[in-house]
Amino acid sequence: MIRLILLLILVLLVLWAAKGLINDLKVLFGRKGREERVTPLSDELVKDPVCGVYCAKRSSYKLKYNNKVYHFCSPQCREKFLKEVGSS
Ligand SMILES: [Zn+2]
Repeated sequence: MIRLILLLILVLLVLWAAKGLINDLKVLFGRKGREERVTPLSDELVKDPVCGVYCAKRSSYKLKYNNKVYHFCSPQCREKFLKEVGSS
């Protein structure tokens, strides 16, 4: 009977340890998720070559031209850029 109780305690300890480990992992992943949510503030800024405005890379309008990626603040700027490079 005592052996059974010891086994039960052992099982509980293992479960408790596993739970703690899972919580640690959750904290680890949770922290990562929080960092990702923070990134819009610390996001890399890119300069719009048309109007010179800096905008967040993530929310910018992208255009790949001559194997280079350009970032624009608005679709209008992208259109303007396309017209300029198209006419020259
Ligand atoms: Zn612009």
